[in-house]
Amino acid sequence: MERNLTKLTNKVHDLVVVGGGIYGATLAWEASLRGLSVALLEKGDFGAATSANSLKTIHGGLRYLQNADFKRMRESIHERTTLMKIAPHLIHPLPVLVPTYGHGLKGKEVLSVALAINDLVSFDRNRLPDSQKHIPNGRVISKQECLELLPDIPTKGLTGGAIFYDAQVYNSERLNISFLRSAYQKGVSLANYLEVNGFIQNDNRISGVTATDRLTGNKLDIRGQTVINTCGAWVNKIIGMANHQERSPFGLAKAMNLVTTRPLFEKYAVGISSKNSSVDPDVVINKGSRFFFIAPWRGGSIIGTEYAVYSQDPDDFQITEDDINQFITAINQAYPGAKLNREEISFVHGGMLPTTNVNPKTGEPVLAKHYQIFDHSQTGLLGLISVVGVKYTTARDVAEKVVNYLFKSLGKKSPKSVSSVTTIYGGEIENFNAFLQNAILENKSKGLTESTIRRLVYNYGSAYPEVINYLDNPESELAVIKAEIFYAIHQEMAHKLSDVILRRTELGSAGYPGDEIIQFCAEVMSKELDWNSEKLQQEVQEIKNIFGVTPVKISV
Ligand SMILES: Cc1cc2nc3c(=O)[nH]c(=O)nc-3n(C[C@H](O)[C@H](O)[C@H](O)COP(=O)(O)OP(=O)(O)OC[C@H]3O[C@@H](n4cnc5c(N)ncnc54)[C@H](O)[C@@H]3O)c2cc1C
Repeated sequence: MERNLTKLTNKVHDLVVVGGGIYGATLAWEASLRGLSVALLEKGDFGAATSANSLKTIHGGLRYLQNADFKRMRESIHERTTLMKIAPHLIHPLPVLVPTYGHGLKGKEVLSVALAINDLVSFDRNRLPDSQKHIPNGRVISKQECLELLPDIPTKGLTGGAIFYDAQVYNSERLNISFLRSAYQKGVSLANYLEVNGFIQNDNRISGVTATDRLTGNKLDIRGQTVINTCGAWVNKIIGMANHQERSPFGLAKAMNLVTTRPLFEKYAVGISSKNSSVDPDVVINKGSRFFFIAPWRGGSIIGTEYAVYSQDPDDFQITEDDINQFITAINQAYPGAKLNREEISFVHGGMLPTTNVNPKTGEPVLAKHYQIFDHSQTGLLGLISVVGVKYTTARDVAEKVVNYLFKSLGKKSPKSVSSVTTIYGGEIENFNAFLQNAILENKSKGLTESTIRRLVYNYGSAYPEVINYLDNPESELAVIKAEIFYAIHQEMAHKLSDVILRRTELGSAGYPGDEIIQFCAEVMSKELDWNSEKLQQEVQEIKNIFGVTPVKISV
């Protein structure tokens, strides 16, 4: 992917997409597949905001049963299957175990019925040729089996457990990049670190955006027939740049996950009820509490999700020590066996989600449940559409609907969408296990270890040989990381140390990778991008700040 600003500015695009999170990335891909010319602008790095902070669950939507929302269940199930098909290296089935208590709404009998309905609703989920992607039926287990699998869970009232499958994205940042790389191959012009500051507007018609290149300070005009605002938590800030009185009706919630250094559970993702009561006014079956979801992650666990109302500027967003400590307390209350302390938290994910209300009884935010497409022409502002998504899982589906809508509103016949059956960059894999074993065998003789090949295949999929092309010494793990850095800089628009550590490689995905790795990566980038020592120190400091690590001075 080349950051070509001339290509961005020298034509009128069909679409200008503002925001390079998962909603912008899938939209650019979908629109390019249907023959539209597209420009995409992202003010930070691609996928660095809310999209990088998800719990990594690709939901099959079992939880929507409590709302009796079968339409949403079907959408989620379809997207889970689709993502496993188009990005088989990144999306994998995830077994989930939920202990059952008593014989009421949290009991074994109710969950047994729920699992049976879930299997019925997802009857077509295994119409994929690769059996590694197949999702078994759900089942309930005895109290004894549950305690063997989860020895430390509270036993009072325990009646057994429910086992079902969802999916996990191995690296959500690379999924974001893969959609963008696919879009780029289809001709989309895109740039990160390009911030939209305003609209090109004549009376009530928008015909593009004005932007600032954050790498040089230069100002640019990017023109398009339609501007689509996929700025997530910033959606209202973008709308506010137009000379028009309108906002989306959404508020914001602050949401957080914790990554731990040790696994709380090994084999299964586990759902545990929180101790504080929570009453979602919209649910049909109310269990009176909500779930903490504890999933295996990089040898530790990822735990989510804690929510609070957020009413400040999205640019001022931060997670405080108080937020972290309160969440740790809530986890230990729900699951005393966790015995979690602050030192065991290696990484904190924080992001903002759209809300529709605040629960008057608990003060908790009521999260928006449905995506929204706002066509601002309906209130007199032509050429601008805003899209607000509520789940990473369903972004591709929403992109498909946005492009359908666009063609319809322009009175044009839309080409058929093929994004649900077209593999994205790195996804050319028919059978994941066979592909992995072949890659291990082929490369062992070249000096690459099994764990290195695993890591490369899980992150880059069928494109992993492109990374190896940059490798000068297969026997050294640092040389492999160096190859990944070159690949990130030359093929994937990485400009900053944080882009490499957090979003092109998996180095920072479980927490601070250590001074040695940070220093090594900084020096490789510094040489390749011609940084002076001040710039190098600044980049190192930035990444340490992200991980909350005490500054350590490093030499060039
Ligand atoms: C803690 C947490 C856990 C979650 N867990 C899950 C989960 O397990 N599964 C799931 O399916 N979903 C999950 N979600 C929801 C999911 O992450 C979001 O729905 C999704 O990532 C939103 O993507 P987006 O593209 O709309 O927003 P973002 O990723 O925030 O993208 C918007 C982009 O717009 C850019 N932007 C803003 N202003 C400008 C400007 N002026 N110029 C240019 N660009 C601009 C931003 O920099 C940003 O990159 C979770 C969310 C959170 C916060």
